[in-house]
Amino acid sequence: LYRSQGFERDNSMGINLANDDQLRELAQQVNAATANWRAEPLVPGAKAAGPDIAVTNPADRRQTVGQWQAADAATVEKALQNAVAAQPAWDRMPAASRATILEHAADLLEQRMPQYIALCTKEAGKTIADGVAEVREAVDFLRYYAGQARKLFAPEPLPGPTGESNTLQLQGRGVFVCISPWNFPLAIFTGQIAAALAAGNAVLAKPAEQTNLIGYAAVKLLHEAGVPEAVLQFLPGDGATVGATLTRDPRVAGVAFTGSTDTARAINRALAARDAAIGVLIAETGGQNALIADSSALPEQLVKDALSSAFTSAGQRCSAARVLYVQDDIADKVIGMLAGAMAELTVGDPGLLSTDVGPVIDNDAKCLLDEHAGKMQGSAKLIAEAKLGPGTEHGTFFAPRAWELQSLSQLTRENFGPALHVLRWKAEELDRVVDAINATGYGLTLGIHSRIDDTIDRIAARANVGNIYVNRNQIGAVVGVQPFGGQNLSGTGPKAGGPHYLPRFATEKTLTVNT
Ligand code: GLU
Repeated sequence: LYRSQGFERDNSMGINLANDDQLRELAQQVNAATANWRAEPLVPGAKAAGPDIAVTNPADRRQTVGQWQAADAATVEKALQNAVAAQPAWDRMPAASRATILEHAADLLEQRMPQYIALCTKEAGKTIADGVAEVREAVDFLRYYAGQARKLFAPEPLPGPTGESNTLQLQGRGVFVCISPWNFPLAIFTGQIAAALAAGNAVLAKPAEQTNLIGYAAVKLLHEAGVPEAVLQFLPGDGATVGATLTRDPRVAGVAFTGSTDTARAINRALAARDAAIGVLIAETGGQNALIADSSALPEQLVKDALSSAFTSAGQRCSAARVLYVQDDIADKVIGMLAGAMAELTVGDPGLLSTDVGPVIDNDAKCLLDEHAGKMQGSAKLIAEAKLGPGTEHGTFFAPRAWELQSLSQLTRENFGPALHVLRWKAEELDRVVDAINATGYGLTLGIHSRIDDTIDRIAARANVGNIYVNRNQIGAVVGVQPFGGQNLSGTGPKAGGPHYLPRFATEKTLTVNT
């Protein structure tokens, strides 16, 4: 597949993004990729599924980039049977051997970076920079969880009286369902699967319906690296046929889910209603993330970081800044600079290196954002609207916008796209600002821009959020460096890419032997 699509370069040494020649070569490879990908269920012993469904490019809906087939009920049932049969042998394998397979997958992914970036660009509308970050993060997840498995799954001897030996051992839970989002179709998809596999589980992977092609390519790569086909099966399909069937099945031991808070609740209910062992749910959900800037903030840095936090990936990150709280004495200056910077944004073809903001994922997403813009028109003041570039009329583009609000209560839901809202605050209101942010019920990321240590400490201590970023942007958590995940309506924890993630996919067994 790799060679047939014309990718020859060995990228195992990585791509130097500061090198213009390498970047141009990468862009050329990404854009030249043959757009005729396929995705279908990967379930040993199951018959071919339903009709082909066309996948279109979000940047240009006239372009078909591939076809996919959904799993039907019989395929889902066969996948469950396969997984139950295959899991014990995978679990009994030494954790270090599972880790080696995941590391091999990381090597393969790194070597084939352009192909996977091309998929991210053409199926998910990602810019090339986002595509690079996406592949990088998937590679990091594979290596990180492999390393964690080596460390945590070795039997741990415990103290005990003479004549008795005690050992604590982690084991896989059984069959894990991984339901992943379209906004990180490779990184989060691979991260969930890597963790579940590393811990000794069999995995049923259900990609988001918008990004089946990327999910399929990731699963094929994991198989090539050595994960048995019955241990990792791929089940594309709609939430009702695949997701709901799996989450109410008593053979499923746990679910890793990233997506909306409402869907996480539905999964939780389905798991709880089963007449079976109590299933575990690891959910990462939405956010209503704020950036608080006081009057000591450096305006240039603040505007640069606000722009990056709100509009990178077309604002389609759970971590993205949705609300900028700026202290009143610098507000006019910051708002003016923000409008000026937004006028410079390049919105358009994600395959061009000059593009800052690509399309949103599909027409439903665009309609929701248009609806929000209509609502803001009546109730908020438009600060700026970026220009749409040439050709955007053929794709699902939403021009990045910023509005000034009077109250945070004007936002009644998470607006998943390039939409930023600005609120002014006075010095004596700092605690109330943090309380208002906490009162949204979400608790994912928070940005702070200040040069006053007391203010930073006060906000950080009061805010109920998972990830706090000071004097920088608030997106792009790095695996093993900034473990990522929120509180309350934003998720159950543990944090992805952190030291407590893997144990949640495992059970603990204590062995006491009278010697
Ligand atoms: N981990 C990503 C970041 O830090 C966000 C993940 C998400 O959107 O679900 O930007």
